[in-house]
Amino acid sequence: MTFTAFLIKYAEIGIKGKNRFLFEDALVKQIRRALRQTEGEFTVSKASGRIYVEAEGDYDYEELMEALQRVFGIAAICPVVQIQDQGYEDLARQVVSYVEQMVPDKKITFKVDARRSNKHYPKNSMELNADLGEEILKAFPEIRVDVHKPDMMLHVEIRENVINIYSRAIPGPGGMPVGTNGKAMLLLSGGIDSPVAGYMIAKRGVKIDAVYFHAPPYTSERAKQKVVDLAKLVSRYSGPVNLHIVNFTDIQLYIYEKCPHEELTIIMRRYMMRIAEEIAKQTDCLGLITGESIGQVASQTVQSLAATNAVCTMPVFRPVIGFDKQEIVDVALKIGTYETSVLPYEDCCTIFVAKHPVTKPNIKVIQASERNLEEKIEEMVRIAVETAETVWCK
Ligand code: ATP
Ligand code: MG
Repeated sequence: MTFTAFLIKYAEIGIKGKNRFLFEDALVKQIRRALRQTEGEFTVSKASGRIYVEAEGDYDYEELMEALQRVFGIAAICPVVQIQDQGYEDLARQVVSYVEQMVPDKKITFKVDARRSNKHYPKNSMELNADLGEEILKAFPEIRVDVHKPDMMLHVEIRENVINIYSRAIPGPGGMPVGTNGKAMLLLSGGIDSPVAGYMIAKRGVKIDAVYFHAPPYTSERAKQKVVDLAKLVSRYSGPVNLHIVNFTDIQLYIYEKCPHEELTIIMRRYMMRIAEEIAKQTDCLGLITGESIGQVASQTVQSLAATNAVCTMPVFRPVIGFDKQEIVDVALKIGTYETSVLPYEDCCTIFVAKHPVTKPNIKVIQASERNLEEKIEEMVRIAVETAETVWCK
């Protein structure tokens, strides 16, 4: 059966009271954005608490489903047959024809779930359930009713200006539409964890920008391109990402020259956070996002996280903080970032990494080491922020 219309069901945004229309409008906007990435032409409309997608002409069903399954805020996508009210006889015929086409093998159980929001319709919901059920039983001798666990739940919605018939619900990604919850800055490396972190925060409706610390010539153009590619993969869910590429080489070399090598990673990470926060402030972001997970590496012990966090004034969102590596990998595989993340290009942190990094840094000691940087560091940070290159990833 070829469908031309889809009913979009949303979950959480349904409970936002008076602000509900803001959420619906954001969802419509995100659906339109996702559909622009497909071949077909579609109309997206909002009608009395319902969002519909209608295909105008040919389209690829699989491609459409994939695009909609990347739109946060969608709980389910229901391919729907929409008819006009031409009396009960016509409705009964259309419902029987729907079952005929949808269920090749009629040895199934079903239940009719009729809803009537048009209170002028001559039959109420109970009558519709009973009468339509009977029509179906009459038409297909092998079919059975099961009101508890039907194979097919047949929804018939009598609305003011249209009648919807549907039985299938393809799950969406859940979450909230991007744009309903402010904006945050993702520290995006070429690894597995940070793209997943960005995805998870975008899923809560947060728009994201990203910052990448690049250290040429220690890190190559290929490593940078990999991060651009990752930002593009994340943008399929989050919408366009402004990726700020910061040249971090001079700062890294300066830290390497002036500070104890076992503290390098921690001090470097503290400067990454400071710079990311500075760019975040300039771009209206209200928080930072990292892919940190407790205990994963020396710089992610609770003590290290505390030392890194101490330089931030903005909230830092660490959505994978309690995940095991495998749990993060599972999400990366699901969202399609894993393959790119595991490409073996060098990372700016690994090049300057010490053989025995501190795992329990003492903030006072770290601050004392950072005083060795006083002469030049402020100016270097200013230059790093000012010379950041911005790449629009979509
Ligand atoms: P990932 O897989 O995300 O790279 P990781 O396990 O390699 O994480 P770290 O290298 O300690 O862990 O980085 C922790 C977090 O710091 C990353 O998830 C990311 O948010 C941020 N980060 C690390 N390196 C960079 C970088 N070069 N540019 C931007 N952010 C970075
Ligand atoms: Mg990394």
